[in-house]
Amino acid sequence: MRGEELVGFLHADVSGLLRGRSVPDSELEERIGAGVGWVPADQALTPFGPIAEPNPWGSTGDLRLLPDRDSEVRVDLWEDASPLHFFLCDATNTDGSPWDACPRTLLKHALSWLEEETGLRLISSFEQEFVLEGPAFEPGPGFSFEAQRLVEPFAPLVFAALRQAGLAPETFLPEYGSGQYEIPCSPAPGLFAADRAAAMREVVREVARTLGYRASFTPMVAPGGVGSGVHIHMSLVDPEGRPAFYDPDRPGQMSLLAARFAAGILEHLPALCAFTAPSVVSYLRLGPHHWSAGFGTMSEREREATIRIPPLVELSGGDPARQFNLEFRAADATACPHLALAVLVLAGVRGIREELPEPPLMEGDLSELDDEERRRLGVKTLPASLEEALRALEADEVVRSWVPDDLLECHIGVKRTEISLLQGLSLEEACERYLRVY
Ligand code: GLU
Ligand code: MG
Repeated sequence: MRGEELVGFLHADVSGLLRGRSVPDSELEERIGAGVGWVPADQALTPFGPIAEPNPWGSTGDLRLLPDRDSEVRVDLWEDASPLHFFLCDATNTDGSPWDACPRTLLKHALSWLEEETGLRLISSFEQEFVLEGPAFEPGPGFSFEAQRLVEPFAPLVFAALRQAGLAPETFLPEYGSGQYEIPCSPAPGLFAADRAAAMREVVREVARTLGYRASFTPMVAPGGVGSGVHIHMSLVDPEGRPAFYDPDRPGQMSLLAARFAAGILEHLPALCAFTAPSVVSYLRLGPHHWSAGFGTMSEREREATIRIPPLVELSGGDPARQFNLEFRAADATACPHLALAVLVLAGVRGIREELPEPPLMEGDLSELDDEERRRLGVKTLPASLEEALRALEADEVVRSWVPDDLLECHIGVKRTEISLLQGLSLEEACERYLRVY
């Protein structure tokens, strides 16, 4: 029984979850111009349910969720389940004017600012890891082909679903962690890269659900385990599409512009983490020896750096200039992709504008050095907890100035409420709570 086809008008909120309402597909054309009703305080929903109090709106006000036609996802693979059909939306005022606490709108502003300041556009992709769970599911060894075949037909179905959704999957890989997988999707222009990240999670969850698994993108399934990251790849191109981040004659083969973009991010890193790694368990993943982001540094190929320069492949005539990108690794799926990308871009633009000094390219295991030596080398540390990241945000006037007041107040309120909702729970229990939601 498939019933009537419904189309979701959805919005990635500060918790990084897609929320919204659905309309009948048969009325889509009449509905798409005016969207569906929404409530400002919905932005203040914590991942665990309760609305953060106080929040800037209380019980007052009305919004619309207004779909972007270019973000449509429709997957029709199931005989006994209706198509997975949705659009990503901007949250707007009822007259259609931008609502200034909408993360997708903030990303649009950040991308326009980038273009005004530099004449360049952002190309990005989000690499997102997740785990599959199911009753009696015995995961195979890390990276093994068996780990892929054990969940058959998950891989071919999720690939077909992501392709139908227009999300351009590239490869399917069993990851290192138990039951952990990853499906990189092709890079896209800034706004659509964040849309793709949000949509990809929903498609993966749906395919998992139809096969009796649950997919979770939580940053840490259990304390001391293997983390699931979201690695945000970024590069800039000029109006003709020519890459602006590559320079074969400079250290790391990165242009001065790319180095300054990275410098802006590293300069504001602790405050940015409040948006890119915004959960209590995010900080079980960050830190040395997790292959996530050990310190606030930049390195070539090093998987412990916050900004990694991935390898350039020259096989089969690959063009290094087009491949060159910066990979930001201190992010996870508890972040709203639009909000995370917006603040990274704004920090990068600031680095370019202020001509910040290029960060050094680090090598080796920096955890083996003592604090003094790390300070001498300019190695920055990452926040050790969500509370520390929030305090860094409160102390960073520059980052605060980028985020509209209501959105900032709401974000900090949601995150502090989230911390208080977990008070008294063990780390195991906290991981369990996030595992159920993400
Ligand atoms: N699982 C690691 C993380 O938490 C990433 C491993 C990799 O480099 O793919 O970011
Ligand atoms: Mg990976």
